[in-house]
Amino acid sequence: MSLIGTKCVQAGYTPGDGEPRQIPIVQSTTFKYDTSEHMGQLFDLEASGYFYTRLQNPTNDMVAAKIAALEGGAAAMLTSSGQAANFFAVFNIAECGDHVVASQSIYGGTFNLLAHTLRKMGIELTFVSPDCTPEELDAAFRPNTKCVFGETVANPALTVLDIEKFAHAAHDHGVPLIVDNTFPTPVNCRPIEWGADIVTHSTTKYMDGHGVAVGGAIVDSGKFDWMAHADKFPGLCTPDESYHGIVYAEKFGQEGAFITKATSQLMRDFGSIQSPQNAFYLNLGLESLHVRMPRHCENGQALAEFLASHQKVESVNYPGLPGDPYYELAQKYLPNGSCGVVSFEVAGGRAAAENFMAALRLCAIETHVADARTCCLHPASSTHRQMTDDELIAAGIGPAMVRLSCGLEDKEDLIADVSQALETI
Ligand SMILES: *Cc1c(COP(=O)(O)O)cnc(C)c1O
Repeated sequence: MSLIGTKCVQAGYTPGDGEPRQIPIVQSTTFKYDTSEHMGQLFDLEASGYFYTRLQNPTNDMVAAKIAALEGGAAAMLTSSGQAANFFAVFNIAECGDHVVASQSIYGGTFNLLAHTLRKMGIELTFVSPDCTPEELDAAFRPNTKCVFGETVANPALTVLDIEKFAHAAHDHGVPLIVDNTFPTPVNCRPIEWGADIVTHSTTKYMDGHGVAVGGAIVDSGKFDWMAHADKFPGLCTPDESYHGIVYAEKFGQEGAFITKATSQLMRDFGSIQSPQNAFYLNLGLESLHVRMPRHCENGQALAEFLASHQKVESVNYPGLPGDPYYELAQKYLPNGSCGVVSFEVAGGRAAAENFMAALRLCAIETHVADARTCCLHPASSTHRQMTDDELIAAGIGPAMVRLSCGLEDKEDLIADVSQALETI
């Protein structure tokens, strides 16, 4: 099973003789054992098995195994949301007194998590431009830096991360690179192949693809040598007193340490598990991910080209457009396409954008992105409405900026809708 489409359909679960063809939903909080000794071995992490769904559940594990296979990782886990995935990925290796380097071009929720909530927990952040020089990136590190964070294609700025540049810098400083790969999905980019160590997802977006279930995932490449940097990662390389003195990097090795620790410590204590029912829905989405992504990209490209040539549009951001600042990086990292999200500025400012939004018929107004139905957002009048025009411009979100997430409809109908809405301005 070497190709991505086959993995989307079949990885993670191989039924035995007479077993269910589709993954079973193990809708059970707990699991029954014949002896306390056997259960004790599970609690000591001496034997593998299930005892409580907050830590592990067979349905979730099958879907996590599929996502690990898609990303080319060694191990993976599901979380209740993308926010939980990014929080766990960072907090598994950084704690009070530590420092993180992150690209400033990231999803707003992740920016808040890193810049505000982690700071309250004693973790300091340094943000860098995704376009920084290697020297600028190097200068962002401190002796207590524990990881580097970025997004392959940032939501909503649509900047493309130079993964190799960020991976080299991280590895030069003895720390892993964490990449949120939500927008391209492993169908369009596999960051581990470019040097990323840990990959995260909001599975709520294209992986689910139907706007059905909020969820997240963390994939570990198994390639980062924690023991070679044991002084930086005491959580993985020294005994865990809350688990009878287990040393994760010794007992579970380079391939198992990160996910085992995140499951047995962070999931145990924070409890952000995905429900098995939602994992089942996620798997249905994954089964067609490789068929849907090219269509999202085809529609995104068509809309971006249409908008770029329209008089009532001031500017368009889409990494697949020749002339886009990220076109070259997209050609390198995303040769088959990036995603279906396009952002653009309507000519005529905030009022014109509001006008445009009101005139849309097929494209629905939603805060969501990346599902089968095309949706559209005017940040200045919704998610960012508390900000003044000057603040919006400083944040890179102009008052006339519109974010369009192209779904799976026929592109001619999408262009017709956007076209008639532009004509009303
Ligand atoms: C939506 C999103 C998140 C947050 O995921 P939720 O599932 O909404 O918690 C994180 N990163 C990116 C890139 C996203 O688009």
